[in-house]
Amino acid sequence: MTFSATILTLYPEMFPGPLGHSLAGRALAEGRWRCDARQIRDHATDRHRTVDDTPAGGGAGMVMRADILGRAVDAVIADRPDVPLLAMSPRGRPLDQARVRSLAAGPGVAILCGRFEGIDERLFEAREIEPVSIGDYILSGGEMAALTLLDACIRLLPGVMGAAHSGDDESFETGLLEYPHYTRPREWEGRTIPQVLRSGDHAAIAAWRKARAEDDTRLRRPDLWERHEGARVQSPSGARRDKER
Ligand code: SAH
Repeated sequence: MTFSATILTLYPEMFPGPLGHSLAGRALAEGRWRCDARQIRDHATDRHRTVDDTPAGGGAGMVMRADILGRAVDAVIADRPDVPLLAMSPRGRPLDQARVRSLAAGPGVAILCGRFEGIDERLFEAREIEPVSIGDYILSGGEMAALTLLDACIRLLPGVMGAAHSGDDESFETGLLEYPHYTRPREWEGRTIPQVLRSGDHAAIAAWRKARAEDDTRLRRPDLWERHEGARVQSPSGARRDKER
């Protein structure tokens, strides 16, 4: 199955952009995913192909019009009724690895990229659109956010990362940050690789990695740690694990 990405944007030339290179670029060339970036202005009705207007209630900037976007979105829905329709927005639910996994397991995604001050709210009332944020900061447009979301999905598609690397251990997959990595040279600026990683003792290495993942998560991301601990205490299998210790 080919994962299809349909993007609605004022800057279709920004796609595939960085996703035309490296892992995602090779996967694109191999037909493992498809990238179809569409110009929102094609659905404008005036000579100047206007898509925005001044904010109701006043204030700075411009707002993307619901009527123009409605037409653009309807054309995508007609073409791709099978894929979820997302809109990149700082007002959406923050993207996480679980959502990325569920999107990557499906037939693809359609993404609306905002610009200016954002999108007329009535569009979200009138159509089934999932607003998605990539973090608590403001970008100048939804394109970089869409590229980020797509990159996260594409690397999970079958055959993209290769069998050697399933990604199962990675940060967030376990609810924890991943343990830190080291490679040659064995000594650099007087710093050595932790002894246990050179011991060849696989059980000791696994224990060290687990402990570092837990310590680093607790220190760097108390929010993740709290959720991880909460889930462990609540789940019956977690409770069983605790008793076995
Ligand atoms: N005035 C808006 C920000 C608009 S930024 C506000 O304060 O909420 C312009 C566009 O950039 C948005 O419509 C959205 O598509 C995109 N964007 C900005 N920050 C984003 C984020 N953190 N996640 C996803 N999209 C974002």
